Amino acid sequence: MGKVYLTGAGPGDIELLTIKALRVVREADVIIYDRLANPDILKEAKDGCSFVYVGKADKHHSLPQDEINEVIYQSALKYENVVRLKGGDPLVFGRGGEEGIYLHERNIKFEFIPGVTSAIAVPEYAGIPVTHRGITVSFRVVTGHESTNKEQSQIPWKNYKTDDTIIFLMGLHRLKYITKKLIEIGKPTDYPVAVISRGTTKDEKTVVGTLDNIWGLAKDLPTPALIVVGKVVTLREQLNWFENEL
Ligand code: SAH
Repeated sequence: MGKVYLTGAGPGDIELLTIKALRVVREADVIIYDRLANPDILKEAKDGCSFVYVGKADKHHSLPQDEINEVIYQSALKYENVVRLKGGDPLVFGRGGEEGIYLHERNIKFEFIPGVTSAIAVPEYAGIPVTHRGITVSFRVVTGHESTNKEQSQIPWKNYKTDDTIIFLMGLHRLKYITKKLIEIGKPTDYPVAVISRGTTKDEKTVVGTLDNIWGLAKDLPTPALIVVGKVVTLREQLNWFENEL
């Protein structure tokens, strides 16, 4: 029986891959990878390594999670070194926990290999620090993907009245709803928002606006994209180091 490495691939820029992730990729007998993992990482695999794509698109899952779990498990029965490569960090909306539990229940050894999460690194490449002395003392990372049905909503919108930076992942198609909710709880309509598309890659694009106008400005940006809500967005005027060089 093999061992499974539930591995973070980082947010896009291949140089943000950790040394540990690179080592397990080079030693892998099979790599099970996502749409969000930079495909150039696969070029680091040894000759004879097998590749299995289980990518998920934003709105539909091309393979349901229970099938992905089973693919990983079956691979562990067949190969010695199994790498499950996932965009960003495997445990930030990456469902790596579910994969780990599935393996645990079947007595398969596994390791988590943390990755640089897009939640922090993508704003950083856009010149937006998620915390900044004197501006905000905390940040939240929230799914933008959950149901709009009030009964089912788990997002505690009322807690978001503070000036914490809020980073929404998987939220571009809900941008209008998200901004509406934040205005409803009392945030000013001119509160700063940025949407960052394809962060840390050569296609990175950031659009800055306010709760009131960001939907019109950013709704057609290509995915993956994340939303940053907070006063820290204004620091980009001085800190936009990456897109200035593109
Ligand atoms: N585990 C991943 C997140 C998975 S959820 C991580 O830690 O980064 C997928 C969401 O992440 C996307 O819908 C998008 O909101 C965000 N995302 C991932 N990569 C991104 C990128 N390069 N640029 C912008 N957003 C990104």
